[in-house]
Amino acid sequence: MGGGSAGVSVAARLLRAGVRDIGLVEPSATHYYQPLWTLVGGGRAGIAASARPQSSVLARGVSWIRGRAESVNPDERTVGTAEGKTIGYDRLVVCPGIQLDWHRVPGMAEAIAAPHTSSNYRYDLAPKTWELIRSMRSGTAVFTMPSGPIKCGGAPQKIAYLAADHWRERGVLKDIRMVLVLPTPGMFGVPVFAEELERVVARYGIEVRHNSELVKVDPDGRRAVIVDHASGGRDSVGFDMMHVVPPQSAPDWLKATPLAGPDDPGGYAEIDKHTMRHVRYPEVFALGDAGSSPNSKTGAAIRKQAPVVTENVVAGLRGAERLPASYNGYSSCPITTSRRHMLLAEFDYTLEPCPSIPMINTVRERRDMWYLKRYGLPFLYWNLMLRGRV
Ligand code: FAD
Repeated sequence: MGGGSAGVSVAARLLRAGVRDIGLVEPSATHYYQPLWTLVGGGRAGIAASARPQSSVLARGVSWIRGRAESVNPDERTVGTAEGKTIGYDRLVVCPGIQLDWHRVPGMAEAIAAPHTSSNYRYDLAPKTWELIRSMRSGTAVFTMPSGPIKCGGAPQKIAYLAADHWRERGVLKDIRMVLVLPTPGMFGVPVFAEELERVVARYGIEVRHNSELVKVDPDGRRAVIVDHASGGRDSVGFDMMHVVPPQSAPDWLKATPLAGPDDPGGYAEIDKHTMRHVRYPEVFALGDAGSSPNSKTGAAIRKQAPVVTENVVAGLRGAERLPASYNGYSSCPITTSRRHMLLAEFDYTLEPCPSIPMINTVRERRDMWYLKRYGLPFLYWNLMLRGRV
């Protein structure tokens, strides 16, 4: 269920492993490489390069069931679609992505429809982010991150640094007050990367509000209400431009299925964080943004989860009792710290850095890493990851 980064990768891998009857339920005719949207918002890439026809990324041999899953009956092993189909399965891989809950912040949905607010979290809005950044010469710019799990926890910061560096190049940064609103007590969950990011925000003179969250927007009056959870204080900040990231959760229909964790307000598919198998339904696996595993939700995590899910599904189909593969929580976040530098934060469940590139110091922002983000990772995604080769 779901033909995004996770679904297409796992389907290709299952095919390579010799599984023949694979159906992929996916409603959208277009496949998106979402990590590029940060660069689009920062004026460093065009939006068209982030989209390709779904039919061009699906491995030949996988049947595309064009439709929207809306129910699962794990006892009968069936999936129901909004189009009225019922599909039976031996194994089910759940990966319909995450839901953007714009409505959870009063005024946010109206704000993104108004002229001064944007979000890189939508294909149609990422170019607007760049328009706002490009045309700004002075005033206050606010960048926000919600609490709770979101896809790419670094993205709310990345766009702030791309904007700051553009304004620095233009000589207007000194006339712009930048406010970065973060729900966390530090800049990043892994101390060594947090220290590097502290240097980055100091360089640009960004005012960081920690333990804080956007709770209300007045789009017409251009005011953002920010709550400081540590002090309980509330502040109303006037803005000339704002980049928002909405709160996120599992898709509502998935929350309503028996696959959702009963105690999880996010409603994600409740899986074992190592085997990726559902804790109650052994024929069901989940990965990517819709799974409950407590890794950072990124495409990079999926690159490591997809081989694990594939191996464990295949082992089960062949009658093995034991699941052979285990995921260690690896995730990485390529944080663009300027228009030409990137900090490749790689870590796992232990929250220790786990660099995959030998010989170079990746706990520092680097120029060569920029090229990896801009050119290397998109190439890897379209040509290797979606084909189940890495
Ligand atoms: P998705 O790729 O979102 O795919 C979900 C699929 O499910 C979609 O095709 C959708 O159409 C389909 N679907 C939805 N509803 C249904 C339904 N009812 N039935 C069937 N199918 C359905 N990751 C990184 O690794 N590095 C980065 O630098 C990075 N930057 C990012 C920047 C931004 C601005 C954003 C938004 C994301 C970024 N990510 C990054 C995160 C990455 O894009 C996601 O983690 C990844 O795409 C998740 O893959 P997925 O397959 O779980 O979900």
